[in-house]
Amino acid sequence: MSDDTQRVAVVTGASRGIGKAIAERLASDGRHVVCVARSEGPLTELVEKIRASGGSAECVTCDLSDGGSVGTMIDDVVERCGRVDVLVNNAGITKDGLVMRMSDEDFDDVLNVNLRSAFIASRHVARPMMRARFGRIINIGSVSGLMGNPGQTNYAASKAAMVGMSKSMAKELGAKGVTVNVVAPGFIKTDMTDILGEELMKEVAPRIPVRRLGQPEEIANAVSWLSSDESGYVTGQVLVVDGGLAM
Ligand code: NDP
Repeated sequence: MSDDTQRVAVVTGASRGIGKAIAERLASDGRHVVCVARSEGPLTELVEKIRASGGSAECVTCDLSDGGSVGTMIDDVVERCGRVDVLVNNAGITKDGLVMRMSDEDFDDVLNVNLRSAFIASRHVARPMMRARFGRIINIGSVSGLMGNPGQTNYAASKAAMVGMSKSMAKELGAKGVTVNVVAPGFIKTDMTDILGEELMKEVAPRIPVRRLGQPEEIANAVSWLSSDESGYVTGQVLVVDGGLAM
């Protein structure tokens, strides 16, 4: 459990991939990290790992596709920890398919987890952050939301909408010391890109100016800075971390 002065960070989708790297990084930055996802086992392992290296963390299982649970989860964290200083809306899913064949359900499911959960979590942290006159909301977008991507109408829509949502919230909350930014990764080595297969990845790598896929820790580095005191004059921005892919 956090002490009264320790900053509290909530990271969604922390059970693996980018979210896990972000949780570990924020813990090593000295935050008490609340790790959120559906899979209890990997979350428990992560929390044990963080504690073993001297950090502070706890896990909360929550299905973010259920809006009611998202609000309750954040309210519970605020009550238990007394504060939320950093919210990283990282959880995301893909349900790719060509537009002609994409079902309403696959469109809604992706919007629900990627966008709606981030909106609800942000709404619930806004009040405590404004009261504290400090807050950092960091939404994990994607270069797909900036460039579009065949087969990802639903996913790109969710990530593009995240940019407009973040800029609007940044304008509303800036005067109260709360910043809202997007980190937009390119191709990062996680389960999400592993399912695309090695062949496709071999085709992708030469199109990336730095000629390789990114590591989850490279996204965590950007999130770490955006969550710090040092970034207080940066809000409503999209920080693209993609090895130059979307230039
Ligand atoms: P992974 O598939 O590796 O991890 C996704 C995370 O989201 C898991 O922790 C998963 O946990 C959680 N999650 C998914 N659905 C739910 C749900 N309904 N409720 C709660 N948690 C959920 O993805 P990445 O780490 O690769 O991606 C993280 C973020 O980065 C996503 O928003 C993604 O869109 C974005 N991104 C990733 C890129 C990449 O190349 N990897 C590129 C651009 C953006 P669990 O299954 O335990 O619930």
